[in-house]
Amino acid sequence: MRVEFLGGARSVTGSATLLEKGSLKWLVDCGMFQGGKELEERNWSVQPYRSQDLSFILLTHAHIDHSGLIPKLVKEGFRGKVICTKATRDLCEVMLKDSAHIQEMDTEWQSRKNKRAGEKETVPLYTMKDAENSLQCFQPVRYDEMFQLTDGVKVRFQDAGHILGSAILEVWVEEGGQEKKLVFSGDLGDFEQPILRNPTPIKNADVLWLESTYGNRLHKSREKTVQELLKIIQEALDLQAKVVIPAFAVERTQDIIYTLGQLIRKRLIPSIPVYIDSPLAISATEIFKKNSDCFDQETRDLLLGGESPLDLPQLIYARSTEESKAINEDSRPGIIISAGGMCEAGRIQHHLKHHLWRKDSHIVIIGYQAAGTVGRRIVDGVKTIRLFGEEIAVKAHIHTLGGFSAHADQKGLLEWLSHFNNPQLEVIVNHGEENISLELSQLIRQQFHFKTTVPQWREKRFLFAPEKKMIPEERAEEVPPAGETLSTLFKHLERSYTRLRRKLKREIRMSKESREPRWLKQLEEINHKLEKLDSELL
Ligand SMILES: [Zn+2]
Ligand SMILES: [Zn+2]
Repeated sequence: MRVEFLGGARSVTGSATLLEKGSLKWLVDCGMFQGGKELEERNWSVQPYRSQDLSFILLTHAHIDHSGLIPKLVKEGFRGKVICTKATRDLCEVMLKDSAHIQEMDTEWQSRKNKRAGEKETVPLYTMKDAENSLQCFQPVRYDEMFQLTDGVKVRFQDAGHILGSAILEVWVEEGGQEKKLVFSGDLGDFEQPILRNPTPIKNADVLWLESTYGNRLHKSREKTVQELLKIIQEALDLQAKVVIPAFAVERTQDIIYTLGQLIRKRLIPSIPVYIDSPLAISATEIFKKNSDCFDQETRDLLLGGESPLDLPQLIYARSTEESKAINEDSRPGIIISAGGMCEAGRIQHHLKHHLWRKDSHIVIIGYQAAGTVGRRIVDGVKTIRLFGEEIAVKAHIHTLGGFSAHADQKGLLEWLSHFNNPQLEVIVNHGEENISLELSQLIRQQFHFKTTVPQWREKRFLFAPEKKMIPEERAEEVPPAGETLSTLFKHLERSYTRLRRKLKREIRMSKESREPRWLKQLEEINHKLEKLDSELL
């Protein structure tokens, strides 16, 4: 079978893999590229498939860097099923709509700018309507249940413990009469992460796609991290100041609510106002509450004991802009949790503008900060940050807490990998910045002696090259030598092509008016087939 790495290859963004088995084509993840103009251009690039030719999309989890281009494919004609867990579907409903809203707003802004410059208007990658339409394609499946996708391809979703509904995919394909197993780790969760279960151990595979976001890092322990947070909150309380936490709307926000709840239940901090200033985070928290079957035992025990692990005595949701603005008028000490997680956009920027210059304020960075983002620059210790066209001095206390990650660290990844017990395993290291993926790849080779590779973006590869067909001895002579068959075929092809070209030229001369000749589609198909053959022959 043929695979092509369409994203998450030597980068953490735009996760997608194209798989082809005969005429069957499907994707594992369909992520949007984020993080700078150059990367984001890839969202518009011509794909090596036609969306209507894809049979299905297997989706590991709802994060936009894994799901964000699904509405674009639906807009282009994809009519297959998006197979994922129910919680992933629920989260995608709010996240894809949110993403569409951002696309529409950005386009509107760009179009206004272009108009003023006398240039053409732009179109969004997809609209709210496309996002809504795409939700019709989603088909939820349960964890740990075998699902037959089509003849010779089946899948099983296992809990990846990364965000609500996240999954590791086990995919079985029949190749040359043999069954082969592919495993996609998706994004793997941190073992100490609350609320969710740990990543499910998998025992074998022929080929494994392994994420490597933190492939060269060790997280601080959860316990130490919570202690640090506790100290920061106490300090802010003493100063009657605020703690601002930029957090991803899904998982990080709920993790922080859960942790603050634990601190209050243990009476380590008093009940203080905690603002959740992100409509997406509020919706996500509601979805968490509806999918408590995904929770780990500890969280379920809390629920059984009558506690609400995702509620706080003074939890204040700010949905509207007015509610968001009102937070700044509250002079009491408290905690503001707002999105986006990398401080690149969203309401967090208003809170940073309001607090970065204040010596008493505390900014707590808890998530991954990609290179070039506002969040990364704050972590790197810049003296000023430009927000809303204004230069803001960075005087607040900046803290980076390493233990709140939703991703397994190097130790976690290797621990999970250690369950694979077939020495023939090939590991494809993906979803990591280039040097990190390469480092982890080498470490895996040294430690486990598995074959490893780190694919490039748009790299194509054949898996399980077909075995040479055996010809029974008595029939061997009847088969003409390959060279002879080919030369005859070439002659036929050349003759047909010359004839066709002549006829087409005549047709074009004769029928100037006909805008869409009936044979154009057929020609496109022939061209498509030839290109496919061309790429298969490498
Ligand atoms: Zn993720
Ligand atoms: Zn990811």
